[in-house]
Amino acid sequence: MNQTNPFAIAQQQFDEAAEILGLDDGMRQFLRMPQREFRFTLPVKMDDGKVHVFQGYRVQYNSARGPTKGGLRWHPDETIDTVRALAAWMTWKTAVVNIPLGGGKGGVTCNPKEMSEGEKERLARAYMGAAARILGVTKDVPAPDVYTTPQIMAWMMDEYEKITLESHPGVITGKPIPLGGSQGRTDATARGGIITVRETAKRLGIDIQGATMAVNGFGNAGQYAALLGEELLGLKLVAASDSRGGIYNASGFSAREVVDYKLSNGSLSGYPGADAVTNEELLELDVQVLFPSALEGVITKDNAANIKARIICELANGPTTPEADLILQDHNVFVIPDFLANAGGVTVSYFEQVQNTYNFYWELEDIHRRLDAKMTQAFADVYGEFQSRGNVHMRQAAYLVSIARVAEACRLRGWV
Ligand code: GLU
Repeated sequence: MNQTNPFAIAQQQFDEAAEILGLDDGMRQFLRMPQREFRFTLPVKMDDGKVHVFQGYRVQYNSARGPTKGGLRWHPDETIDTVRALAAWMTWKTAVVNIPLGGGKGGVTCNPKEMSEGEKERLARAYMGAAARILGVTKDVPAPDVYTTPQIMAWMMDEYEKITLESHPGVITGKPIPLGGSQGRTDATARGGIITVRETAKRLGIDIQGATMAVNGFGNAGQYAALLGEELLGLKLVAASDSRGGIYNASGFSAREVVDYKLSNGSLSGYPGADAVTNEELLELDVQVLFPSALEGVITKDNAANIKARIICELANGPTTPEADLILQDHNVFVIPDFLANAGGVTVSYFEQVQNTYNFYWELEDIHRRLDAKMTQAFADVYGEFQSRGNVHMRQAAYLVSIARVAEACRLRGWV
């Protein structure tokens, strides 16, 4: 098994759970592969006048429970296999929070950090121009992910409406609020994760008020994890890192000040009153709660045994390899698995779609209350499975809950 190919990992995780569930062969074969995949060549005129041809992808992994749903990632390392894995995880994610959607994912191989606003807009419009035929509220609905923003969603929605000559705000979620975005979408991924940490602490009987946290990856999810961890749970931020490295101070930072510094400075480096730490060192710090919030594959068989956190809340997709999962289980580290921990984002995306369809918008308190209810229930379902089985870890328990729901929908449709 290739421990660095995310789709091979996603399939291994699925196979293990399918075995425990005793799924029949036909269902296994069907659910371990995407239903549909698309690749687009996207010619974009760059600021220097030359045309650059980008590669774009969209994978509709499974639509048994509803239209496929999932973000668009713009990253230099994007490949069809990262998109396939992320699309699979979206399928299990929408199922674990029990919303009537399937799973999909898209991406473009590019480096947005080196692109101007104009180049990004032209790429966003080119992607929608190519993908419009396979997207739509009743088909497949994208959203933001790594390095894509509400502004990019706005351009894509606009392009879709130019193509269809109709208003279709629900074709994409994570939009700016004046264009039909939802209250509470921006911090929803982190807020959902914080709710799962709260539920974990209750089940494990840990008082986490004043306990320490470290955040690996300081983009949208990581920043809000720090802010909401402090605000809602009283956690103390002692370390944070971004792609250029990290900062550490045992007596703790003000999350607000660290976030403001990152936003005005572009990176964490040079933050006053902090020791420098690498991303690798941050993962091994002696903290109560660790939030891997960047990319996949950061916790592996090489560092899992050194992890000292009591709770890992996976805000990133796929941060832990299957070998590392077993080591963490042996070391009694409680892992809140990615597609449960970070399901708050897609849950509020779903609320956004519902509001777009109604054309009637909810207050922030309504969003928070409904998000809390969904996350608390999802956590209870997975924890219940974890406890009743006794011999599985939390990721396997989450897979068991989700796969059973997706398989049931496939059966009821008469597909398998
Ligand atoms: N990209 C986010 C995720 O991985 C959100 C997806 C969505 O809102 O559709 O869950």
